[in-house]
Amino acid sequence: MINLISDTVTKPTPAMLAAMMGAAVGDDVFSADPTVNELEAYVAALFGMEAALFCPSGTMTNQIAIKCHTQPLDELICDQTSHVYQYETGGFAFHSGVSINLLEGVNGKITASQVLAAIKPDFDWLPVSRLVVLENTCNKGGGSIYRLEEVLLIRKLCTEKGLALHLDGARLFNALVETGESPADWGQVFDTISICLSKGLGAPVGSLLVGPAELIKRARRLRKVMGGGMRQAGYLAAAGLYALHHHVDRLVEDNARARSIGALLQELPYVAAVRPVQSNIVIFDLAGDLSAANFLAALTALGIYATAFGPQTVRFTFHLEITPTMVEQLASELVKLKFDRH
Ligand SMILES: *Cc1c(COP(=O)(O)O)cnc(C)c1O
Repeated sequence: MINLISDTVTKPTPAMLAAMMGAAVGDDVFSADPTVNELEAYVAALFGMEAALFCPSGTMTNQIAIKCHTQPLDELICDQTSHVYQYETGGFAFHSGVSINLLEGVNGKITASQVLAAIKPDFDWLPVSRLVVLENTCNKGGGSIYRLEEVLLIRKLCTEKGLALHLDGARLFNALVETGESPADWGQVFDTISICLSKGLGAPVGSLLVGPAELIKRARRLRKVMGGGMRQAGYLAAAGLYALHHHVDRLVEDNARARSIGALLQELPYVAAVRPVQSNIVIFDLAGDLSAANFLAALTALGIYATAFGPQTVRFTFHLEITPTMVEQLASELVKLKFDRH
Protein backbone atom coordinates (compact mmCIF):
# COMPACT_ATOMS: atom_id res chain seq x y z
CA MET A 1 0.00 0.00 0.00
CA ILE A 2 1.25 3.47 -0.95
CA ASN A 3 -0.61 6.07 1.12
CA LEU A 4 -0.27 9.58 -0.33
CA ILE A 5 -3.55 10.82 1.21
CA SER A 6 -1.77 13.15 3.62
CA ASP A 7 1.43 13.54 5.60
CA THR A 8 -0.78 13.12 8.68
CA VAL A 9 -1.12 9.35 8.09
CA THR A 10 2.32 8.49 9.48
CA LYS A 11 2.56 6.31 12.57
CA PRO A 12 5.35 6.70 15.15
CA THR A 13 8.57 4.92 14.22
CA PRO A 14 9.93 2.37 16.75
CA ALA A 15 12.51 4.93 17.94
CA MET A 16 9.83 7.59 18.37
CA LEU A 17 7.63 5.12 20.26
CA ALA A 18 10.55 4.27 22.55
CA ALA A 19 11.05 7.99 23.27
CA MET A 20 7.33 8.29 24.07
CA MET A 21 7.32 5.26 26.36
CA GLY A 22 10.32 6.58 28.26
CA ALA A 23 8.96 10.11 28.73
CA ALA A 24 8.88 11.74 32.16
CA VAL A 25 5.32 13.01 32.63
CA GLY A 26 3.16 15.00 35.00
CA ASP A 27 -0.11 16.94 34.90
CA ASP A 28 0.26 19.62 32.25
CA VAL A 29 -2.90 21.46 33.33
CA PHE A 30 -0.81 22.31 36.43
CA SER A 31 2.21 23.04 34.14
CA ALA A 32 3.82 20.04 35.86
CA ASP A 33 4.65 17.87 32.85
CA PRO A 34 8.44 18.13 32.41
CA THR A 35 8.41 16.85 28.82
CA VAL A 36 5.71 19.30 27.71
CA ASN A 37 7.65 22.08 29.43
CA GLU A 38 10.82 20.96 27.65
CA LEU A 39 9.08 20.88 24.26
CA GLU A 40 7.54 24.33 24.74
CA ALA A 41 10.89 25.82 25.86
CA TYR A 42 12.72 24.13 22.99
CA VAL A 43 10.33 25.41 20.32
CA ALA A 44 10.18 28.93 21.76
CA ALA A 45 14.00 29.09 21.72
CA LEU A 46 14.14 27.61 18.20
CA PHE A 47 12.01 30.50 16.92
CA GLY A 48 13.70 33.08 19.13
CA MET A 49 10.33 33.82 20.74
CA GLU A 50 9.37 34.13 24.39
CA ALA A 51 6.95 31.25 24.84
CA ALA A 52 5.15 28.35 23.22
CA LEU A 53 2.00 26.35 23.92
CA PHE A 54 1.50 22.67 23.09
CA CYS A 55 -1.98 21.97 21.69
CA PRO A 56 -3.78 18.90 20.35
CA SER A 57 -4.10 20.23 16.78
CA GLY A 58 -3.11 22.92 14.31
CA THR A 59 -6.72 23.93 14.05
CA MET A 60 -6.63 24.76 17.75
CA THR A 61 -3.36 26.72 17.56
CA ASN A 62 -4.66 28.75 14.58
CA GLN A 63 -8.03 29.37 16.20
CA ILE A 64 -6.45 30.44 19.49
CA ALA A 65 -4.14 32.80 17.58
CA ILE A 66 -7.08 34.38 15.73
CA LYS A 67 -8.91 34.84 19.05
CA CYS A 68 -5.83 36.40 20.70
CA HIS A 69 -5.35 38.92 17.89
CA THR A 70 -8.96 40.01 17.29
CA GLN A 71 -12.25 41.13 18.82
CA PRO A 72 -15.75 40.56 17.41
CA LEU A 73 -16.46 42.90 14.44
CA ASP A 74 -12.82 42.70 13.31
CA GLU A 75 -11.79 40.89 10.15
CA LEU A 76 -8.86 38.75 9.21
CA ILE A 77 -7.21 38.93 5.79
CA CYS A 78 -5.89 35.78 4.10
CA ASP A 79 -5.68 33.96 0.79
CA GLN A 80 -8.90 32.26 -0.32
CA THR A 81 -7.24 28.82 -0.19
CA SER A 82 -6.06 29.23 3.41
CA HIS A 83 -6.56 26.40 5.87
CA VAL A 84 -8.07 28.86 8.39
CA TYR A 85 -10.85 29.55 5.87
CA GLN A 86 -11.22 26.20 4.08
CA TYR A 87 -10.70 23.53 6.70
CA GLU A 88 -11.34 24.86 10.19
CA THR A 89 -15.14 24.57 10.18
CA GLY A 90 -15.57 28.35 9.97
CA GLY A 91 -14.05 28.60 13.45
CA PHE A 92 -12.96 32.23 12.90
CA ALA A 93 -16.66 33.19 13.02
CA PHE A 94 -17.62 30.72 15.74
CA HIS A 95 -14.82 31.33 18.24
CA SER A 96 -13.85 34.91 17.46
CA GLY A 97 -16.90 36.53 15.86
CA VAL A 98 -14.77 38.00 13.08
CA SER A 99 -15.36 38.19 9.35
CA ILE A 100 -12.88 37.19 6.70
CA ASN A 101 -11.47 39.14 3.75
CA LEU A 102 -10.32 36.63 1.15
CA LEU A 103 -7.62 37.52 -1.35
CA GLU A 104 -6.96 35.84 -4.66
CA GLY A 105 -3.28 34.98 -4.40
CA VAL A 106 -1.06 32.95 -6.70
CA ASN A 107 -0.80 29.33 -5.59
CA GLY A 108 -1.97 30.37 -2.13
CA LYS A 109 0.51 33.23 -1.76
CA ILE A 110 -0.55 36.85 -1.31
CA THR A 111 1.52 40.03 -1.63
CA ALA A 112 1.95 43.18 0.45
CA SER A 113 0.23 45.27 -2.23
CA GLN A 114 -2.80 42.96 -2.18
CA VAL A 115 -2.98 43.26 1.60
CA LEU A 116 -2.65 47.05 1.38
CA ALA A 117 -5.54 47.22 -1.10
CA ALA A 118 -7.66 44.96 1.16
CA ILE A 119 -7.29 46.96 4.39
CA LYS A 120 -10.64 48.59 5.06
CA PRO A 121 -11.04 52.29 5.87
CA ASP A 122 -12.36 53.25 9.30
CA PHE A 123 -16.13 53.46 8.73
CA ASP A 124 -18.63 52.16 11.27
CA TRP A 125 -20.37 50.09 8.56
CA LEU A 126 -17.20 48.09 7.91
CA PRO A 127 -15.38 45.49 10.01
CA VAL A 128 -11.97 46.51 11.29
CA SER A 129 -9.04 44.93 9.41
CA ARG A 130 -6.99 43.56 12.29
CA LEU A 131 -5.06 40.44 11.36
CA VAL A 132 -3.26 38.92 8.38
CA VAL A 133 -2.79 35.14 8.27
CA LEU A 134 -0.18 33.64 5.94
CA GLU A 135 0.40 29.93 5.34
CA ASN A 136 3.82 28.40 4.61
CA THR A 137 3.92 26.08 2.84
CA CYS A 138 0.53 26.76 1.24
CA ASN A 139 -1.32 23.46 1.32
CA LYS A 140 -4.09 24.08 -1.21
CA GLY A 141 -1.65 26.22 -3.19
CA GLY A 142 0.30 23.05 -4.04
CA GLY A 143 2.88 23.26 -1.27
CA SER A 144 4.23 26.62 -2.48
CA ILE A 145 6.88 28.41 -0.43
CA TYR A 146 7.06 32.03 0.70
CA ARG A 147 10.54 33.54 0.78
CA LEU A 148 11.57 35.70 3.72
CA GLU A 149 11.85 38.80 1.44
CA GLU A 150 8.17 38.44 0.52
CA VAL A 151 6.91 38.13 4.09
CA LEU A 152 9.14 40.98 5.29
CA LEU A 153 7.21 43.35 2.97
CA ILE A 154 3.94 42.15 4.51
CA ARG A 155 5.45 42.53 8.01
CA LYS A 156 6.42 46.14 7.27
CA LEU A 157 2.92 46.92 6.04
CA CYS A 158 1.25 45.27 9.06
CA THR A 159 3.47 47.28 11.42
CA GLU A 160 2.62 50.54 9.61
CA LYS A 161 -1.11 49.80 9.62
CA GLY A 162 -1.31 48.29 13.12
CA LEU A 163 -2.31 44.80 11.96
CA ALA A 164 -1.16 41.59 13.64
CA LEU A 165 0.55 38.91 11.54
CA HIS A 166 0.07 35.19 12.19
CA LEU A 167 1.78 32.34 10.35
CA ASP A 168 0.06 29.01 9.83
CA GLY A 169 3.32 27.10 9.59
CA ALA A 170 1.82 23.60 9.61
CA ARG A 171 4.53 22.62 7.11
CA LEU A 172 7.02 25.43 7.74
CA PHE A 173 9.93 23.00 8.12
CA ASN A 174 9.29 21.60 4.62
CA ALA A 175 9.92 25.16 3.40
CA LEU A 176 12.93 25.93 5.60
CA VAL A 177 14.88 22.84 4.50
CA GLU A 178 14.54 24.13 0.91
CA THR A 179 15.38 27.79 1.49
CA GLY A 180 18.04 27.38 4.17
CA GLU A 181 16.30 30.03 6.28
CA SER A 182 16.09 29.34 10.02
CA PRO A 183 13.07 29.17 12.34
CA ALA A 184 14.56 32.21 14.16
CA ASP A 185 14.53 34.18 10.87
CA TRP A 186 10.78 33.54 10.70
CA GLY A 187 10.23 34.12 14.41
CA GLN A 188 11.40 37.72 13.95
CA VAL A 189 8.74 38.42 11.34
CA PHE A 190 5.51 37.14 12.88
CA ASP A 191 3.55 37.99 16.01
CA THR A 192 2.57 34.33 16.35
CA ILE A 193 3.47 31.12 14.54
CA SER A 194 1.69 27.77 14.55
CA ILE A 195 3.66 24.63 13.69
CA CYS A 196 2.40 21.06 13.34
CA LEU A 197 4.29 18.03 14.64
CA SER A 198 1.80 15.60 13.13
CA LYS A 199 2.44 16.38 9.45
CA GLY A 200 5.76 15.65 7.77
CA LEU A 201 7.56 15.54 11.10
CA GLY A 202 5.80 12.27 11.84
CA ALA A 203 4.53 12.72 15.41
CA PRO A 204 1.12 11.18 16.11
CA VAL A 205 -0.49 14.31 17.60
CA GLY A 206 0.33 17.91 18.36
CA SER A 207 0.96 21.48 17.30
CA LEU A 208 2.55 24.47 18.99
CA LEU A 209 1.66 28.14 19.07
CA VAL A 210 4.72 30.35 19.52
CA GLY A 211 4.65 34.03 20.50
CA PRO A 212 5.15 36.64 23.20
CA ALA A 213 4.81 35.41 26.81
CA GLU A 214 1.78 37.56 27.60
CA LEU A 215 -0.11 36.37 24.53
CA ILE A 216 0.75 32.73 25.24
CA LYS A 217 -0.55 33.13 28.80
CA ARG A 218 -3.93 34.16 27.37
CA ALA A 219 -3.66 31.40 24.75
CA ARG A 220 -3.32 28.90 27.61
CA ARG A 221 -6.65 30.02 29.07
CA LEU A 222 -8.28 29.77 25.61
CA ARG A 223 -6.82 26.28 25.15
CA LYS A 224 -8.50 25.25 28.40
CA VAL A 225 -11.92 26.63 27.46
CA MET A 226 -11.69 24.83 24.10
CA GLY A 227 -11.12 21.58 25.98
CA GLY A 228 -7.47 21.34 25.02
CA GLY A 229 -5.93 21.15 28.49
CA MET A 230 -4.29 17.71 28.50
CA ARG A 231 -2.94 15.91 31.55
CA GLN A 232 0.05 13.55 31.02
CA ALA A 233 0.63 15.02 27.58
CA GLY A 234 4.37 14.44 27.94
CA TYR A 235 3.99 11.12 26.12
CA LEU A 236 2.88 13.14 23.08
CA ALA A 237 5.39 15.94 23.65
CA ALA A 238 8.17 13.32 23.68
CA ALA A 239 7.14 12.31 20.16
CA GLY A 240 7.31 15.96 19.14
CA LEU A 241 10.77 16.45 20.62
CA TYR A 242 11.94 13.28 18.91
CA ALA A 243 10.50 14.53 15.61
CA LEU A 244 12.17 17.94 15.92
CA HIS A 245 15.53 16.33 16.74
CA HIS A 246 15.42 13.58 14.08
CA HIS A 247 12.86 14.27 11.36
CA VAL A 248 13.52 17.84 10.20
CA ASP A 249 16.56 17.37 7.95
CA ARG A 250 15.04 14.37 6.20
CA LEU A 251 12.13 16.50 4.89
CA VAL A 252 14.33 17.33 1.87
CA GLU A 253 13.82 13.70 0.81
CA ASP A 254 10.03 14.07 0.80
CA ASN A 255 10.33 17.32 -1.15
CA ALA A 256 12.66 15.71 -3.72
CA ARG A 257 10.35 12.71 -4.17
CA ALA A 258 7.40 15.05 -4.73
CA ARG A 259 9.44 17.00 -7.32
CA SER A 260 10.35 13.86 -9.25
CA ILE A 261 6.74 12.61 -9.36
CA GLY A 262 5.56 16.12 -10.32
CA ALA A 263 7.98 16.15 -13.26
CA LEU A 264 6.77 12.72 -14.36
CA LEU A 265 3.07 13.69 -14.14
CA GLN A 266 3.75 16.68 -16.39
CA GLU A 267 4.64 14.23 -19.20
CA LEU A 268 1.59 11.98 -18.87
CA PRO A 269 -1.30 12.25 -21.39
CA TYR A 270 -4.05 12.18 -18.75
CA VAL A 271 -2.59 15.13 -16.80
CA ALA A 272 -3.57 18.65 -17.91
CA ALA A 273 -1.40 20.67 -15.51
CA VAL A 274 0.76 20.27 -12.41
CA ARG A 275 1.12 23.13 -9.90
CA PRO A 276 4.78 24.10 -9.43
CA VAL A 277 6.18 21.55 -6.95
CA GLN A 278 8.20 23.31 -4.24
CA SER A 279 7.82 20.98 -1.26
CA ASN A 280 6.20 17.63 -0.38
CA ILE A 281 2.82 18.27 -2.04
CA VAL A 282 1.89 17.63 -5.67
CA ILE A 283 -1.43 19.01 -6.91
CA PHE A 284 -2.43 18.34 -10.51
CA ASP A 285 -5.44 18.67 -12.81
CA LEU A 286 -6.62 15.78 -14.95
CA ALA A 287 -7.10 16.18 -18.69
CA GLY A 288 -10.28 15.99 -20.79
CA ASP A 289 -13.23 14.55 -18.90
CA LEU A 290 -11.24 12.30 -16.54
CA SER A 291 -12.67 12.85 -13.07
CA ALA A 292 -10.66 12.75 -9.87
CA ALA A 293 -13.05 10.03 -8.64
CA ASN A 294 -12.30 7.74 -11.62
CA PHE A 295 -8.58 8.43 -11.44
CA LEU A 296 -8.46 7.73 -7.71
CA ALA A 297 -10.48 4.52 -8.18
CA ALA A 298 -7.88 3.31 -10.69
CA LEU A 299 -5.10 4.11 -8.21
CA THR A 300 -6.94 2.42 -5.34
CA ALA A 301 -7.14 -0.78 -7.39
CA LEU A 302 -3.32 -0.68 -7.44
CA GLY A 303 -3.04 -0.08 -3.68
CA ILE A 304 -2.23 3.61 -4.15
CA TYR A 305 -4.25 6.13 -2.14
CA ALA A 306 -4.49 9.89 -2.75
CA THR A 307 -6.96 12.75 -2.27
CA ALA A 308 -9.36 14.63 -4.57
CA PHE A 309 -8.81 18.39 -4.32
CA GLY A 310 -11.57 19.28 -6.79
CA PRO A 311 -13.72 17.52 -9.43
CA GLN A 312 -10.65 17.01 -11.64
CA THR A 313 -7.88 17.86 -9.20
CA VAL A 314 -5.77 15.41 -7.20
CA ARG A 315 -3.24 15.81 -4.38
CA PHE A 316 -0.31 13.50 -3.63
CA THR A 317 1.49 14.14 -0.32
CA PHE A 318 4.92 12.67 0.43
CA HIS A 319 6.03 11.77 3.95
CA LEU A 320 8.41 9.61 5.95
CA GLU A 321 6.63 6.32 5.28
CA ILE A 322 7.02 6.70 1.50
CA THR A 323 10.25 4.86 0.62
CA PRO A 324 12.36 5.19 -2.56
CA THR A 325 11.02 1.77 -3.65
CA MET A 326 7.44 3.02 -3.29
CA VAL A 327 8.28 6.10 -5.37
CA GLU A 328 9.69 3.85 -8.13
CA GLN A 329 6.61 1.66 -7.98
CA LEU A 330 4.32 4.69 -8.05
CA ALA A 331 6.16 6.10 -11.08
CA SER A 332 5.93 2.85 -13.03
CA GLU A 333 2.20 2.46 -12.27
CA LEU A 334 1.48 6.08 -13.26
CA VAL A 335 3.22 5.54 -16.59
CA LYS A 336 1.25 2.34 -17.25
CA LEU A 337 -2.17 3.82 -16.45
CA LYS A 338 -4.50 4.25 -19.46
CA PHE A 339 -7.88 5.94 -19.57
CA ASP A 340 -10.45 5.60 -22.36
CA ARG A 341 -11.09 9.23 -23.07
CA HIS A 342 -9.22 12.30 -22.01
C1 LIG B 1 -3.03 20.26 8.80
C2 LIG B 1 -3.01 21.72 8.75
C3 LIG B 1 -3.40 22.49 9.85
C4 LIG B 1 -3.86 21.91 11.15
O1 LIG B 1 -4.62 20.79 11.04
P1 LIG B 1 -5.00 19.84 12.27
O2 LIG B 1 -5.46 18.62 11.54
O3 LIG B 1 -6.07 20.54 13.00
O4 LIG B 1 -3.79 19.62 13.09
C5 LIG B 1 -3.33 23.86 9.72
N1 LIG B 1 -2.91 24.43 8.59
C6 LIG B 1 -2.51 23.73 7.51
C7 LIG B 1 -2.02 24.44 6.32
C8 LIG B 1 -2.57 22.35 7.55
O5 LIG B 1 -2.19 21.65 6.48
